[in-house]
Amino acid sequence: MSNGNANGGRTILILGGTGPARALADTLVEAGYDVVTSLAGRTSSPRLPKGRIRTGGFGGVDGLAAAIANLDASVVVDATHPYAAQISANAVAACKVKNVPLIRLERALWPRPEGANWISAASAAEAASIVPLGARAFLAIGRQEAHAFFSRSDCMIVARMIEEPEGIPKNWTVIRETGPFALEDELALFEAHAITHLVCKNSGGEATRAKIDAAAQLGIPIIMIERPALPDAKSAETVQETLDFIAELFRTGTD
Ligand code: NAP
Repeated sequence: MSNGNANGGRTILILGGTGPARALADTLVEAGYDVVTSLAGRTSSPRLPKGRIRTGGFGGVDGLAAAIANLDASVVVDATHPYAAQISANAVAACKVKNVPLIRLERALWPRPEGANWISAASAAEAASIVPLGARAFLAIGRQEAHAFFSRSDCMIVARMIEEPEGIPKNWTVIRETGPFALEDELALFEAHAITHLVCKNSGGEATRAKIDAAAQLGIPIIMIERPALPDAKSAETVQETLDFIAELFRTGTD
């Protein structure tokens, strides 16, 4: 572990783009750490955390390894979304090359609500093939993979996302909103649009969980795009667990 930088060896590189990444950065900055949050740059006006920000891809494993060295980061936290598989794999490889500790902040999976009609899909494309003819589907899968549903002109699609992708078909209604979402609002939304299917990712966390509870309550099938497999890494399920790990790392690293 590096301890020799201008910040007394307390620079933390957070791979971000999520709510927990922001919460972690804010807390660490308030605690006096030097924090650099890295954003992919997909969103035009992202909510920014405290601390330093860098934006854009690193250029693969080598680029990330070089950034870790340039920042003299003592630890890397992969707090990216559980479906951001490439950057998580790159983080494992780059930290290994640089011999820098890595912790993955990975929210626990949502368990299946009791009685839910839960249909697993391995990808957005598979989810799109499962939605039956004439369905009224609610999509909560983000912008990047929305195109998997563009060809489903036989369905009525309501998609919730932060930013609209280009080429949205005519049969789509886009709701530009970010969580947290409350159960009663999700119930009202599904009823207002007469939704017959929910398509989503197992993101974990409380902020966006209500949709699956609402679907289960209304007897709406949940087509769940399951998480991609990631290479092994030390992981924490909460911001607090991650903070504890970092505090311990700096305590033992500076003894
Ligand atoms: P991805 O497929 O794993 O990553 C593709 C490439 O984007 C990476 O190889 C890397 O480019 C760059 N990249 C990704 N995250 C980065 C970060 N935090 N900082 C710098 N470069 C990053 O990722 P993705 O699924 O496109 O997600 C992109 C961002 O959106 C992530 O920050 C993620 O947390 C956030 N996000 C994703 C989802 C989702 O469902 N996928 C949902 C919510 C938020 P280089 O190889 O050039 O370094």
